[in-house]
Amino acid sequence: MADHYDLLVLGGGSGGIATARRAAAHGARVALVERGLLGGTCVNIGCVPKKVMWHAAEFAQHAAHAHHYGFDSVPREHDWTRLVDNRETYIRRLNGIYDRNLDKSGVTYIAGEGRFVDTHTVVVDGRQLSAEHVLIATGGKPRWPEIPGAALGTDSDGFFTWRERPQRVAIVGSGYIACELAGVLNALGSRVTLLLRKDHVLADFDAMLGETLIERMREAGIEIQMQRRTVELTETDDGIQAVFDDGDTAGGFDELIWAIGREPAADTLGLEKIGLELNADGTVPADDWQDTPVEGIHALGDVTGRVELTPVAIAAGRRLADRLFGGMPERRLDYHNIPSVVFTHPPIGTVGLTEAEARREYGDAAVRIYTSHYVALYHGVLEDKTPSDMKLVCVGEDEKVVGAHVIGDGADEMTQGFAVAVKMGATKRDFDDTVAIHPTSAEEFVTMT
Ligand code: NDP
Repeated sequence: MADHYDLLVLGGGSGGIATARRAAAHGARVALVERGLLGGTCVNIGCVPKKVMWHAAEFAQHAAHAHHYGFDSVPREHDWTRLVDNRETYIRRLNGIYDRNLDKSGVTYIAGEGRFVDTHTVVVDGRQLSAEHVLIATGGKPRWPEIPGAALGTDSDGFFTWRERPQRVAIVGSGYIACELAGVLNALGSRVTLLLRKDHVLADFDAMLGETLIERMREAGIEIQMQRRTVELTETDDGIQAVFDDGDTAGGFDELIWAIGREPAADTLGLEKIGLELNADGTVPADDWQDTPVEGIHALGDVTGRVELTPVAIAAGRRLADRLFGGMPERRLDYHNIPSVVFTHPPIGTVGLTEAEARREYGDAAVRIYTSHYVALYHGVLEDKTPSDMKLVCVGEDEKVVGAHVIGDGADEMTQGFAVAVKMGATKRDFDDTVAIHPTSAEEFVTMT
């Protein structure tokens, strides 16, 4: 006889946990199945440990500037192992908090791997569980290329297992992870080579951001090689060597990180048992209501491949729970104007349309661009005058702000508030009518002419 629930959640990452707890708060009987650590990618091998590493890298940069702020003695050596120990202690604490929160919310937590038996039944280690609704929130995993010697490299999961900092690191890829890890490793002392298969980074972002980031990364000492399509990795006396499609090579790496995207983790779920066909890219199909084509089966987060960001999965999950169990039939996530920060050095904040997207959607004549190129006050007493850059993308006669983009000091913390304004449909006039907060970098957003 199967244990019966109103909702069975497969995956104890951010999206799964948020859905489970919200559903339980509405009075649903909920169980959550997780085969790994509670918190999923974000907490264990993603956003959280990455942000800790980013703070360390920021610290290294500030230490390099400290002399100009009157400090004679600044830390010179960095103990990577101590940082990793402290980071992992923090994460174990978070795992415990997630566990206790599930318990407090009345969600039954089942450790193990869930596999579908039929549409309403899942088996976990021989134990049968049944439910009216099943949510697939099993997340994703790093993508690896199918090329000879690929296994000589590692991925972002591997990065988080490093007990010591490698001296010479190659990173293949051009997205969030490649750029973020390049910044962290470079700031903490590794020699970093970024291998791009094209000639850009962050292709989906406003072009100003990627172009500026490449400049900043190069100024910071990161070697960026373009048009490098890696077709093989080999091991030499001097470490890992990447072989490119034109026969050229780059070598002498102690580690090479594959950061070429992520793919859904849906292969062990037994979806054939419920007749759920995956999309061509292996993602689980889910509509705007987080419904799959199979009645009673829902999906959200990275496994669906839709805007792979933790807060997106959480927001989608809470709304799904509200709709299914909270008597709110119209609740669903609006996937427009989702803000995002890339924790590079300097950080990037972005919300809304890129300039290119706005021109495509509204036509050149309707688009007005405002930019600001400035040196943050922090640099006033430094020799390092690294500038920051901002862009507002406005459309129509009333100059509605449909995109706001920034790369520079403080971008990580200033974007959230401007995302509210963009989401609410603010115009350039609304921005101008907002009194600046001085002296900050954020004030540049409301003083552009
Ligand atoms: P991304 O999808 O961001 O970027 C991967 C890029 O690498 C591709 O777009 C492609 O860009 C390039 N690429 C693909 N294949 C190859 C190849 N064989 N050789 C060289 N380059 C290749 O993936 P990430 O792994 O960086 O991140 C996955 C997702 O995780 C992100 O989309 C994001 O949603 C999330 N994330 C969010 C973070 C945040 O919010 N701060 C941080 C980290 C991850 P091109 O072809 O244009 O060069």
